Amino acid sequence: MKIIAIGRNYIDHAKELNNPVPESPVIFMKPDTAVLKDNKDFYYPEFSSDVHYECEVVYRICNEGKHVAKKFAHKYYDAIGLGIDFTARDIQSKHKEKGLPWELAKAFDHSAVISNLIPKEEFENLSDINFSLKKNEEIVQVGNTKDMIFDIDTLIVYISKFITLRKGDLIYTGTPAGVGPILIGDKLEGYIGEQLMFSTQIK
Ligand code: ZN
Repeated sequence: MKIIAIGRNYIDHAKELNNPVPESPVIFMKPDTAVLKDNKDFYYPEFSSDVHYECEVVYRICNEGKHVAKKFAHKYYDAIGLGIDFTARDIQSKHKEKGLPWELAKAFDHSAVISNLIPKEEFENLSDINFSLKKNEEIVQVGNTKDMIFDIDTLIVYISKFITLRKGDLIYTGTPAGVGPILIGDKLEGYIGEQLMFSTQIK
């Protein structure tokens, strides 16, 4: 499986990092070695001193898709979860300055927290999913899928022009405002609505 992630998909987050609002989706990838599931601990990596959390709604792909048409896009995902796109912000900033790729800042081991997945039928309205992140019991990020610049169907159409989607792939749909650093000893808890989706201890 592969992880495809979207950058700058919420206007308020693009602005907080002084990035322009994109005209087309900003895409990057993480390998399967990035996955961190089952509420496992995250070990702070030695190569960074400024790892940030980015809480994101995640969609699971359920069919092989190439050149997917918009009206069929909803048939290509079957479940939704919540995750964290851990980002080594210090490395990313250096690479951005030099126009280099982001992989070392984004694709490192265990940089993709993923919760258990909920079948999409259990959601009343996929375009109105509230989610939030607590750090040490304090809410640090609040988002709603209605505020995504590119919704999931648009993302599937766009990504599948370039990259074949396969069953089991995950799409991380971008983070709202409020990203920030983590420290050893922190606890991150992600919620969809009132439901606790994951709990990650930083070690
Ligand atoms: Zn992100």
